[in-house]
Amino acid sequence: MRTIHDIHGGIHPPERKTLSRPGELGPAPIPSVLVLPLRQHLGVPALPIVNVGDRVLGGQLIAEAQGVMSVPVHAPTSGLVTAIEARPIAHASGLEDQCIVIATDGHDEWLPFTGIADWRGVDAAELVERVRSAGIAGMGGAGFPTAVKLNPGPARSIETLLVNGTECEPYITADDTLMQCQADELIEGAQILAHIISAESILIGIEDNKPDAIASVEAAITRSGAEIELATFPTKYPSGGEKQIIEILTGQQVPSGGIPADLGLVCVNPGTAVAAKRAIIDGAPLTHRIVTLTGEALASPQNVIACLGTPIMALLTHAGLSAAPQQRIIHGGPMMGFAVSDLTAPITKITNCLLAPTPVELPLPEPAKPCIRCGHCAEACPASLLPQQLYWYARAKDQEQLAEHRLFDCIECGACSYVCPSQIPLVQYYRAAKGQIRDSEQEKQRSDNSRERFEARQARLESEAAEREAKRAARKAAAQSKAAEGGVDPIQAAIERAKARKEDQSTKQEQTP
Ligand code: SF4
Ligand code: SF4
Repeated sequence: MRTIHDIHGGIHPPERKTLSRPGELGPAPIPSVLVLPLRQHLGVPALPIVNVGDRVLGGQLIAEAQGVMSVPVHAPTSGLVTAIEARPIAHASGLEDQCIVIATDGHDEWLPFTGIADWRGVDAAELVERVRSAGIAGMGGAGFPTAVKLNPGPARSIETLLVNGTECEPYITADDTLMQCQADELIEGAQILAHIISAESILIGIEDNKPDAIASVEAAITRSGAEIELATFPTKYPSGGEKQIIEILTGQQVPSGGIPADLGLVCVNPGTAVAAKRAIIDGAPLTHRIVTLTGEALASPQNVIACLGTPIMALLTHAGLSAAPQQRIIHGGPMMGFAVSDLTAPITKITNCLLAPTPVELPLPEPAKPCIRCGHCAEACPASLLPQQLYWYARAKDQEQLAEHRLFDCIECGACSYVCPSQIPLVQYYRAAKGQIRDSEQEKQRSDNSRERFEARQARLESEAAEREAKRAARKAAAQSKAAEGGVDPIQAAIERAKARKEDQSTKQEQTP
């Protein structure tokens, strides 16, 4: 029996998960228009390989990955490409990004797929390539390219594949529903991923507030006959953070700035495991995902399988949004999500929930009051940080102190803001500070690069000048020696003097900045 460890801090906000009826899953309608962002993952955006006017089929590659930290995009149904342009996307910044727009044709015609039934006999590198080509990015919210995660490097040996079935954020039940409805695929996908990374064991962790998911996964493990451990643990927010679930299940802490692979673990979301099963066994790319549609402003909260690229408004309408003026829509959950400013923005590979709360259900925060130094935020922080100090340093833009106080270990869970009696939106300060630090690092990188380029050019010019000077000196010495041997050739001497003068001038010009 595995020992379950507690993490520092954590909170117990109202769960409100039954609202979306976890365990019931239906298809969302295919909308008339799909908007597919080229960046639905962490890293470099994909590059379109279709043109406006092209007809595409479901499953067709429409944008290819650009390099290792990139993920391709596939069409979720058949239709006509009508635009490749900047469109509003679901992002905290509210900015637009490049998207491929498809007018769907209602025929839902698909390319044929070829899967690999006997994946155990296939080389890991080929399976990783299939995961990469299927466009799989972590489906728990971060969107990290899965193929990169499956290549932790030769220096790290992986012992355990950990499937994180925690889903601790209030309201969201997409993973709970997936574990209930697609448990067999989840188990197959976990075995494939473990085979790829040569993990000796598979561990699935689920919070104890999901008894139906626990029963479904347990039954699927038994049916598979595989040796897979299922561990359950008490519900507490945010146990689903990667570092937090690892500490809960192993008692070990991922070092600051480290990754789970440093402890011999690779951690994936259940949706990612199912996507891997479909990519390998069925040969199907990632084109759909489960989304929780919830909140009391919806007449029919539910979980749906939706085409990636479906406009948010289309899904909310499907769930019976009674559109009140100023209706707030949150992408993700109430703790870590963000308000969507344009409902024409589409869902992506990382959209696990759309929350439409009423003002009574989830009131807007009151204006922040001054910090009273109560220390509640530090007690709640699961990363054992000092949120109050981070807040002061973020306000002062003191990047040195922010680094000293491990700002980048903050998982932006919002537990500190939740308990703050002064209603200070602490996480917003941390997000802004992280953005500023990343910007300054990029700026420093740019200036370092241009300084290196300048220094390399100076060195080249100096070396060329030295070479010319050496040649000139050699010629002069040769002329002097000839003169000493008897008889000066006046014409040759004049040519040598003119050459030397010209080289002197060009050296001076090149050394002038
Ligand atoms: S919980 Fe709020 S008021 Fe209390 S110390 Fe932290 S920031 Fe200050
Ligand atoms: S948001 Fe960051 S600082 Fe606040 S509780 Fe979570 S990890 Fe700690």
